[in-house]
Amino acid sequence: MNEVTLLNTPATIEETKTCTKCHKEHPATREFFYAEKRHGDGLHAWCKPCSLSRMEKYRKVYRATTNGHLRDVYAGMKKRCSNPNCHNYHRYGGRGIKCLFTADEFVSYVINVLQIDPHGLEIDRIDNDGHYEPGNIRFVTHSENCKNRHKGMRIK
Ligand SMILES: [Zn+2]
Repeated sequence: MNEVTLLNTPATIEETKTCTKCHKEHPATREFFYAEKRHGDGLHAWCKPCSLSRMEKYRKVYRATTNGHLRDVYAGMKKRCSNPNCHNYHRYGGRGIKCLFTADEFVSYVINVLQIDPHGLEIDRIDNDGHYEPGNIRFVTHSENCKNRHKGMRIK
């Protein structure tokens, strides 16, 4: 058994690289490190788990900013209107509802025109059959949004 292992060893020896964050040694491959062109070996100094946890932290911080939060809201809105795989596409894109903003236009509209802090609020269309467009969006609390939805259902 040992001999077999030894024979196989030369073929499987890989260069290893120590993550500068967690100081664990990993094979120096793209499987364990993200590509990083600026480094001599083409790999990031941090291993993937460390890089991922930093990205997650960064995302959380970014989402807490108004800009980051609005870009998140925008992504959801765009998805509901244009991605048939989205679970509520039938209530938006499926009904011909479009998102007529670009991401930048949307962020600037909410900040400069609506002038509200959208944290903790949900986006709503004033005219339920209208598009996501200037003049037809507002931000409401989750419970207001649910009430509106029920009202809409009763009418139908
Ligand atoms: Zn690491």
